[in-house]
Amino acid sequence: MKESDTKKEEAGIQKAVELMRKGATMLNEACPECSGPLFQLPESRDIICPQCEKKVLIVSDEAEVQELEKESLLTELDQAICIQIENVMRRLKEEIDADELMTIGRLTILWLEILEKTKRIRS
Ligand SMILES: [Zn+2]
Repeated sequence: MKESDTKKEEAGIQKAVELMRKGATMLNEACPECSGPLFQLPESRDIICPQCEKKVLIVSDEAEVQELEKESLLTELDQAICIQIENVMRRLKEEIDADELMTIGRLTILWLEILEKTKRIRS
């Protein structure tokens, strides 16, 4: 083992002790990268690897993986729509043409409906 690895491991152990003191629980699962023990934080329920100093996502089966993928897709969609709403708001402040205003209004309603739907899919 290289010296740098030993140092990293020592730092990891220290971090682990610190986590336990804060009330984190050591899990049976091992880190996919360093195979060190993983810890779950008491409040956020986040699972972290003290050695890699990274958050780790544990997925138990295919369905859960799909669920996470769906979730990230919906988040992306929400973000894209928020950007569009922002753009339209800027136009709305300056627009005086009634037809244009109507289009902006319709678009805004459409986007708000999508936001509402993605929220409903999530719950
Ligand atoms: Zn790790």
